[in-house]
Amino acid sequence: MGHTYKRAILTAPKEIVIEELPIPSPGPGQALVRVKACALCTWEQRVYSGADTTTYPLLGGHELSGVLVEVDSGVRAKAKPGDHVVVARLNRCFECTSCRRGLDNVCDNAWAHHVPGVPAGPGGLAEYVLADAYQIFPVVGDVPFIESCLSEPLSCVLRSVKKAAVEPGDNVVIIGAGIMGLLHLTMLRRLGARVFVSEPNPTRAAKACELGASDTIDPSRENLVDRVKALTGGRGADVIVVAMGVASAIQEAVQALAKGGRLMVYASVHPSGSTITIDPNLFHSKEITLTGTVSQGQEEFLQAVSLLTTHTVDVRPLITNVFPFAQLREALETAMDGNNYRVVVTM
Ligand SMILES: [Zn+2]
Ligand SMILES: [Zn+2]
Repeated sequence: MGHTYKRAILTAPKEIVIEELPIPSPGPGQALVRVKACALCTWEQRVYSGADTTTYPLLGGHELSGVLVEVDSGVRAKAKPGDHVVVARLNRCFECTSCRRGLDNVCDNAWAHHVPGVPAGPGGLAEYVLADAYQIFPVVGDVPFIESCLSEPLSCVLRSVKKAAVEPGDNVVIIGAGIMGLLHLTMLRRLGARVFVSEPNPTRAAKACELGASDTIDPSRENLVDRVKALTGGRGADVIVVAMGVASAIQEAVQALAKGGRLMVYASVHPSGSTITIDPNLFHSKEITLTGTVSQGQEEFLQAVSLLTTHTVDVRPLITNVFPFAQLREALETAMDGNNYRVVVTM
C-alpha cells in the first residue's frame, strides 16, 4: 500500500478529475475508512451529466461501504480496525434546531463548512474517506460490500414508508419503477402491503412484477386514477409513493387516494419551482395527507444496515452493474441508462 490515495472530483459537466493525495490520519472523533464499494445515486448522475451544476467541484459518492482502517482514540463506537462498516456521510451537527427536533436528516449545518470552489461532498468515490465517528455503522454478518453500500438508499426508503404510515394490507401505488420505486416495492412487500406499480417502460414494469407487484399500470395507455380505483374496489390507494420527479404525476396521483390516504413525494422534482394544483376540499372531505421525505435519520440507517446484514431485504436484483474505480466514467454513463438500476463502483 502506498502513502497516497486517489479520489474523484466532478468538476464540470462530463468532467472527472482524479486527484492523488496523502492518506489522511483521523483527527479528534474521526475514523479512516478504506472504501470498498460505492453506488452511484441520481445526485452523482445529475452532477456528472450537467443537469445539476450547483455543486461543482463535488466529491461525490454517498452510498459507500468499506473497512475501518484507523480510529481516533477518543471514539467510543463499537468498531475496530479491520471491521466491515457502512458510512452515512450526511453531516449532522446534533446542535441545530432541526437536529434537536429529530430532523437530523435536514440538519441546518449540513453544508456549514463548505467553502465555494473547494471540493466538498460525501467523498465516497475515493480509495479512502475520513468520517466522523457517528457516521460509522458496523456491519455484522457476511453481506458483500456491493450490497451493504445500498444501506443508504434503503434507509431513505425506510423513512419514506414510516412517514407514509404504511400498514399491513394497505393498497399502495408506486409511481415509477426506477431503483427507488423498486426498493420501495421490496420493502413494502416485506411489510405486508399490496403494491401496484405505475410504469410505462415494459422492461421496468416486468421487473416490478418479478419483485412482487400485484399488478402494473401503464400510464401512457391507461388512466391512472380509473385503474387504481378498479384495482382497489373503488376505494383508491391508502398510500401513493411518487418515486419519479415529475410535478404532474403528483397532481394526478392525488386524485387516486382513498379516504385517509397519504401521498408521499419521494423524488425531488425537476425543474425546481414547479407547481401543482389541488382542490383543498380533498384535504377536508377525504382527510388526505400530502407529505414528503429526504435522506434518513440515524435510526433508519441503523435499521437499513440490519435489514441487509440479516438478508431480510435482498437488494441483489437491483444491482445491475459493477465497475472498478478506474472505469468511473463508464460506470456513470451506465448508471444514466434507464435500463439499468444501481451501478456500483468497487475500489
Ligand atoms: Zn442516494
Ligand atoms: Zn444540525
